[in-house]
Amino acid sequence: MKGMMMDRPLSIPAIIDLAAEVHAKTEIVSVATEGGIHRTTYGDIHKRVAQLAHGLRALGVKPGDRVATLAWNGYRHFELYYAISGIGAVCHTVNPRLFPEQLVYIINHAQDTALFFDITFAPLIAALRPKLPEGLTYVAMTGREAMPAQEGLDGLLCYEDLLAGQPETITWPDLDENTAAALSYTSGTTGEPKGVLYSHRSQVIHAMTSVIGASRYFGMGKKILPVVPLFHVNAWALPYSAPISGTSLIFPGAKLDGASLFNLMDTEKVDNSWGVPTVWLGLLNEMNQRGRKPEGLTDVIIGGSAAPQPMIEAFERNFGISVCHGWGMTEMSPIGTFGMLSPEMERLPLDEKVALKVRQGRRLFTVDMKIVDENGRELPKDGVVFGELCVRGPAVASGYYNNEAATAQAIDSEGWFKTGDVAKITPDGFLQIVDRTKDLVKSGGEWISSIDLENAALGCPGVANCAVLAMPHPRWGERPLLIVVPRPDAKPAKEDILAYLATKVASWQVPDDVLFVENIPLTATGKISKLELRKTLKDYVLP
Ligand code: ADP
Repeated sequence: MKGMMMDRPLSIPAIIDLAAEVHAKTEIVSVATEGGIHRTTYGDIHKRVAQLAHGLRALGVKPGDRVATLAWNGYRHFELYYAISGIGAVCHTVNPRLFPEQLVYIINHAQDTALFFDITFAPLIAALRPKLPEGLTYVAMTGREAMPAQEGLDGLLCYEDLLAGQPETITWPDLDENTAAALSYTSGTTGEPKGVLYSHRSQVIHAMTSVIGASRYFGMGKKILPVVPLFHVNAWALPYSAPISGTSLIFPGAKLDGASLFNLMDTEKVDNSWGVPTVWLGLLNEMNQRGRKPEGLTDVIIGGSAAPQPMIEAFERNFGISVCHGWGMTEMSPIGTFGMLSPEMERLPLDEKVALKVRQGRRLFTVDMKIVDENGRELPKDGVVFGELCVRGPAVASGYYNNEAATAQAIDSEGWFKTGDVAKITPDGFLQIVDRTKDLVKSGGEWISSIDLENAALGCPGVANCAVLAMPHPRWGERPLLIVVPRPDAKPAKEDILAYLATKVASWQVPDDVLFVENIPLTATGKISKLELRKTLKDYVLP
């Protein structure tokens, strides 16, 4: 027997419609690319979203067209999210930190019809243009007065001109909820970037489940600062989950250094902020220098790569800021787990609490998880055994856009998505990422987690940042090599670091060597690029 409820589609524009009505006065604050601070509200931005949607149609954008954006976190980028998918087109966010050849590959692969970009990217776009699809429409996301005078951008259109004179209301088309709404490419750490094509349904479900799973950070009166970019995996769904819950958004623009973030958080009284570990190094530095935290900041949400234990401790112990550690992937819209603790866990002594927070949290509603051995057999969730993590759910990719080979590799015979992460799951549902499959160190018959070793090394005095790589070894197959960026005022000795590590990990896990470097290369999403490190160390031989 079938239920007798209405079959109304889940739709992205319904989120901004709701916010405009129910949370009309809730603010969206942006550091503008032209300089200064821009303030608007959900009520007012709705009018501009409608104007932009009409403007896009006037430009010839049709349902199903891919419209690319190359932009920082700001109100115009937010408007594009809603206007593009609202008219049935696909908002293709492009990560400007990718290598030029990757940008060219992605924009050609997606066959974008228009490209909207922040004025800071004018030189980049002019340089790429000869290799981009012919007939692409270029729009600078600014007003007439700030249009870039860049050579090589003939025919460039102005964003504010598109909106001018257009009606401030719109009746959105009725779209099937499975209509494609957004497209995001993985940064291609293991080959060509792969496209994940989200639907209205998946985006709305994911926004709702992330508000439920991270309820402490959302709601009327709360202010969120997404450091995580709108150009990478939907800024962890914040452009949807904030308006759906009446939460205010504070967009930081292009400047993401510690001082700029501190000042913005301080003046806007931001409650919580979301980003990858590398951005928090900058903020922690700034807080250490000023001897205080930004006023109002109570929580930081860390994901994208493992939040190191010393970082969690520094926030919690030194500044009373609570850390939530989450895990996700582009293919999961992107959030899979959140580390919100139960009231009993919150009351634990700090050391025990931090130990819980080093794990990656527990799954969101609708996300199914299992770990499997190399033959695909399910392993127990006992917190001890580890295997490849597989996931399933209505906001998990069922394949890659126009890429059958990658799809066949990623999806198992029962329809689970193979994450490429190795993990343990405890009986009470905490996920602990051991490593990426390709980063594990396979030493003799044993596996060493590069994440565990990095966590331990970051606690060593004088170590500012570090990475562990598996290096070929004639006897053991692979052995760990530790690469260290020393603190500016410190000169840690290799022997001291290894002696320190010997007190933290089993003796056979202690790295065979330590190399000191000034910088560690980062990926386009601000994670340590082990691929680049491996390239630079290809001729290195362990002692
Ligand atoms: P890319 O491959 O482009 O970097 P993602 O940003 O989608 O793509 O990265 C997803 C991967 O990042 C995960 O598969 C996992 O390896 C890693 N990751 C994300 N969050 C965490 C975390 N909290 N701890 C450890 N690893 C993480």
